[in-house]
Amino acid sequence: MNRPKALATRPLFPAARAILDASFDVDYWPVQDKIPRAELLRRIAGCDALICLLTEKIDDELLAAAPKLRIVSTVSVGYDHIDVPACTRRNVMVTNTPGVLDDTTADLAWALLMAVARRVVEGDAWMRTGGWPGWELDQLLGGDVHGKTLGVIGFGRIGRGVARRSLGFQMKVLYHDSARVPAEIERELCAEFVPLERLLRDSDFVTLHVPLTDGTRHLISTSTLNQMKSTAYLINTSRGPVVDEAALAQALNEKKIAGAALDVYENEPRVHPALLARRDVVLEPHIGSASIETRTKMAVMAATNAAEFFAGRRPPNALNADALRK
Ligand code: NAD
Repeated sequence: MNRPKALATRPLFPAARAILDASFDVDYWPVQDKIPRAELLRRIAGCDALICLLTEKIDDELLAAAPKLRIVSTVSVGYDHIDVPACTRRNVMVTNTPGVLDDTTADLAWALLMAVARRVVEGDAWMRTGGWPGWELDQLLGGDVHGKTLGVIGFGRIGRGVARRSLGFQMKVLYHDSARVPAEIERELCAEFVPLERLLRDSDFVTLHVPLTDGTRHLISTSTLNQMKSTAYLINTSRGPVVDEAALAQALNEKKIAGAALDVYENEPRVHPALLARRDVVLEPHIGSASIETRTKMAVMAATNAAEFFAGRRPPNALNADALRK
């Protein structure tokens, strides 16, 4: 019997390959660099399943090049790189990897928050110049973290994980979301549901955890930045286009806020040049989920989603299962 064919846009990890190899004839893109678009369009032609990353745009053009495709399984929780309605129209299942990366991503958001407030990266760079003259009273003064107010925009899995970490720092937590969470979660995390305006006005740290959608694109703009405290910091581990980078650079320049720490960018892999030049900005290369354990779990989850689907079962993390034609 002919086995289904899958394309994996990276070599993945042995544990994920074992799952895929048991169910599919798999064409693995052999290197850890992004597969060129033309190569992706060529290789997807006869495939039944696609295991992809957030760097691959899954749109009508790709779907048209893959008439046999039945499932797109992304190794990421965010799926703004996939045109889900277009997939649904062509009866293609879409799956993602929620849950397994929450703590790892919340850890990174916390690392960014600490780094920008306490000027950790600047200090490290200074030490390496050999130019540190020794302790001084007014060197690299930052902002305190403990006891401050944390504003979480997007109080889902990762946003709540960040709020949980703040409990150890005796912080007050404000959150804004399109939906209020149950009272027991608010109690557990000592979190108060507030309108966006209040969160921006009262928070010392504003951390972003919304998905990228039409409703969240440029959520952080000149007008929202103007509402923040001049001593506040912005942390973004969600998706780059949630922040208007030009507006952020201008707000920093005008000292409207005290600093920013970013893991994601509006036009990855490019970074706005005005941000690159600033010392009050901490920049990381989209490593929110980048621990060995978590990236392995994500790849295994994506492989499992595809394998379950071809075994005739509903994949555990189906995004559009109910909308597909039966
Ligand atoms: P989630 O679905 O659990 O939480 C998202 C929350 O945002 C939900 O509670 C939702 O109600 C809320 N939300 C959606 N639109 C909103 C709006 N317009 N205004 C206010 N709230 C809104 O998702 P999650 O697993 O916590 O992940 C959040 C996002 O983080 C992902 O979509 C992904 O883009 C990003 N992410 C980035 C990395 C990284 O490497 N930096 C890693 C993991 C996830």
